[in-house]
Amino acid sequence: MSKVYLTGAGPGDIELLTLKALRVVREADVIIYDRLVNIDILKEAKDTCECIYVGKENKQHILPQNEINKLLYEKSLIFKNIVRLKGGDSVVFGRGGEEALFLASKGVDFEFIPGVTSAIAVPEMANIPITHRGKSISFRVVTGYEVPEKGYAQINWETFKQDETIIFLMGLHQLQNICTQLLNIGKPKEYPVAVISRGTLPDENVVIGTLDDIYAKAKDLPTPALIVVGEVVGLREELMRNS
Ligand code: SAH
Repeated sequence: MSKVYLTGAGPGDIELLTLKALRVVREADVIIYDRLVNIDILKEAKDTCECIYVGKENKQHILPQNEINKLLYEKSLIFKNIVRLKGGDSVVFGRGGEEALFLASKGVDFEFIPGVTSAIAVPEMANIPITHRGKSISFRVVTGYEVPEKGYAQINWETFKQDETIIFLMGLHQLQNICTQLLNIGKPKEYPVAVISRGTLPDENVVIGTLDDIYAKAKDLPTPALIVVGEVVGLREELMRNS
């Protein structure tokens, strides 16, 4: 009986791969992986393991989702251990749920293997704890990738009035719009914002600013990058002194 492991590879730093993920990678007959996966993980696979890149660029998917689904299904007919490897966690804007539903509809066994999501780990490794007593009692992870014409849900900015940490994934190209919208609902100009590019990797870049100036400072950073908005961003300076 074959099984597809919908596996999170973590945000980049290979040491953030879980032991469970490492085990299924080592046992895999085929690994189907995305752009954000640290390819050093593939060195852990068996020599005979087939590794297939189905990378997703920002907008343009190298392999459309229905083709990926088809590929997973086809491989499940041939191989026993199939690993679908994605950056971070596969159900955090990773379409893991969609792939699971598809596999279930085809009667293919699957298992979710959680990964360390960039939404939490990237700010954390940059010394920005996403919750902190007295500064933030909640956090929200939001996609900056809105395609209204395709009928995707649109952000209701009014709901961001409360003080909480907001983490935008896939949002760098929307940075200016995000800042404008938050200023429009009454956040102050000096409200803290961080943009973290290639977080947890050796070429990580952290830019700190405010709703007023972060766009000018961070717009040209390389991807992947995420945006953190909230008072917790201010903790970084103090934490950096001893890290
Ligand atoms: N499933 C992934 C997120 C997929 S959406 C997870 O759980 O992490 C892709 C977005 O994640 C990117 O556009 C970027 O905003 C963010 N991201 C992923 N890895 C990152 C990294 N190493 N540094 C900064 N942002 C990252």
